[in-house]
Amino acid sequence: MSIALLTLGGTIAMGGVDRGRPGVVTRLTGADLTAAVPGLADLGVPLDVRDAHAVPSANLTYRQLLDVIGIASAAVSDGAVGAVVTQGTDTLEESAFLADLVWPHAAPLVFTGAMRNPTLAGADGPANLLAAARVAAAPAARDLGVLVVANDEVHAARWVRKTHSTSTATFASPNAGPVGQVIEGEVRVLARPERRDPLPPVDPDRLDAVRVALYPVTLDDDGLLLAGVADSHHGLVVAGFGVGHVPAALAPLLGDLAGRMPVLLTSRAGAGSVLRQTYGAVGSETDLQRRGLLNGGLLDPYKGRVLLRLLLAAGLDGDAVAGALARYR
Ligand code: ASP
Repeated sequence: MSIALLTLGGTIAMGGVDRGRPGVVTRLTGADLTAAVPGLADLGVPLDVRDAHAVPSANLTYRQLLDVIGIASAAVSDGAVGAVVTQGTDTLEESAFLADLVWPHAAPLVFTGAMRNPTLAGADGPANLLAAARVAAAPAARDLGVLVVANDEVHAARWVRKTHSTSTATFASPNAGPVGQVIEGEVRVLARPERRDPLPPVDPDRLDAVRVALYPVTLDDDGLLLAGVADSHHGLVVAGFGVGHVPAALAPLLGDLAGRMPVLLTSRAGAGSVLRQTYGAVGSETDLQRRGLLNGGLLDPYKGRVLLRLLLAAGLDGDAVAGALARYR
């Protein structure tokens, strides 16, 4: 019995400097990370460490992540009680959500990272790694899907957001709150999100070939950037104002695009849902739906983009995309 630990780099591992250049870079291996955690040995479950990547999380690709998720999945199939992935926090909400869409096991897959690098006072990496390992080994954390653990909070990957650029309390789930906490080392699960069937395995080559654009709408937006997007992309996520609104001038353009590829309507507000049936102006949610845009509901723009890309890579189109999206929003 063990916990698989896969390291991908990020601030949690950025304990070194390059000569002549300012700033920290990834240096710590998984062995270094685990050696820095007091109490890990007392967990009673050994960590099976694999260093997969050593990069800032901005550099990670879906292909690399699917590979890492596959390694974690194989470890669980071979008897690991759970798995932990360490990576940079910047893209962690997208990685964890991607993993959640395909993770087939009851055993927990837990993502964690750090906001303060190991050279700083009060570095949070060791505490986060210990808490993540506790959650990965906890029977109570089974069947919760993929989780994000930081700051002694447990978040469901389907809801978690990075909400602050520097705070150690950056991870939050604005629509739902944390699903659990780690209290004096004990994993307490407070809410159990409903699990959905995993998406079928994704072919990384197909995924590489699928381009989904994300477009945040802004005040006095002329939409010029959207011209030609259907020639280069297979899908579009629109981060609209508030409950899913855009300037009236953009509505016909988006409707035209929705006739050529799936266009998913989400909110740029950071929390809350896109509405369905409240406003009636041109550019409102009812108008955009009438023009063929798909309602993203509670999906934030980043998660919407991950989901749409996976669905398109699975070969879904038209009604099938709409039907699948409806199960996640
Ligand atoms: N830029 C870093 C990264 O995402 C930030 C972090 O790890 O928190 O790799």
